Amino acid sequence: MRINCPHCGVRGAEEFAYHGDATLRRPAADAAPEAWADYVYLRDNPAGRQRELWYHAAGCHAWLVMERDTRTHEIFSVTPARDVALAGGGDVA
Ligand SMILES: [Zn+2]
Repeated sequence: MRINCPHCGVRGAEEFAYHGDATLRRPAADAAPEAWADYVYLRDNPAGRQRELWYHAAGCHAWLVMERDTRTHEIFSVTPARDVALAGGGDVA
């Protein structure tokens, strides 16, 4: 798989580290223990399009949000996580 880093250009996937679902939201500090258990331990395993958090470990060290199809590995977008956070964590074109 080839990933187009917004800072470095197209690179091999071996330069990147996968860090899971980019849509998780941290519960409030006073949330129920069940909400914290879900946040820490439970993950969906969707077949299809999902937003993922990646780290360019052997490159620019940027955190990236990638929209990718888990069945085909087709990549629809790669966006610096900073831009996603500044946009409120919503969809980024
Ligand atoms: Zn990079």
